[in-house]
Amino acid sequence: MKTQDITMKSTPQSNGVLNGYNKEIGDNHLLTSLETPMKSDAFALSDEEKKYRIAEHFTQIMDILGLDLNDDSLNGTPDRVAKMYVEEIFSGLDPKNKPKATLFDNKYQYNQMLVEKNITLFSNCEHHFVPIIGKAHVAYISSGKVIGLSKLNRIVQYYAKRPQVQERLTNQIANELKQILNTEDVAVIIDAKHLCVSSRGVEDNNSATVTSYYGGKFKNAEKIRELQSYIHND
Ligand SMILES: [Zn+2]
Repeated sequence: MKTQDITMKSTPQSNGVLNGYNKEIGDNHLLTSLETPMKSDAFALSDEEKKYRIAEHFTQIMDILGLDLNDDSLNGTPDRVAKMYVEEIFSGLDPKNKPKATLFDNKYQYNQMLVEKNITLFSNCEHHFVPIIGKAHVAYISSGKVIGLSKLNRIVQYYAKRPQVQERLTNQIANELKQILNTEDVAVIIDAKHLCVSSRGVEDNNSATVTSYYGGKFKNAEKIRELQSYIHND
């Protein structure tokens, strides 16, 4: 990875806060860290203030593009986008929105893998801010506790509701499951389409990206085959 070689450039108008278009980064999808890169004062603004300021800036973007903000169809768009960013598609940036995990005793002594497959995944590419759409499959082997099935979906959704790269999303979900379930025996597979690939750039509408994390007992080839057979058995 050659992230260190990249110097961020600011355009003169960017007043040092926003970086202008950086040709060196351009269309490359670089993964810099497991943690979503956040500023130390990420939550200094309230959600209301964030929405207000995003709407202001989005108004500017639309205006610069030449759109007439007086048009009935367009004049509510900045507010809608701001609300959608803060309350919906990027709500997973805020730890207050993290799903509470309730664990139960493994009463049935079920000690094989549990697979929650075909979890609908909507995320957004952090390099282009356009959708990533696909499916996540998660699996774990209980170390004594089990988790409500819908919580698995919620954990996937929480981390998906951030500007993401698929590799980081995969690992963040796996890490969360490992911590909550107190086991290394977790697996996460994500199979997704990136609209930045299908609708722009190389405009390939057929390709999909698959990423996986296999921890603990899931590093075993036999276990991976078993997991794959469940996922592909529709
Ligand atoms: Zn992208």
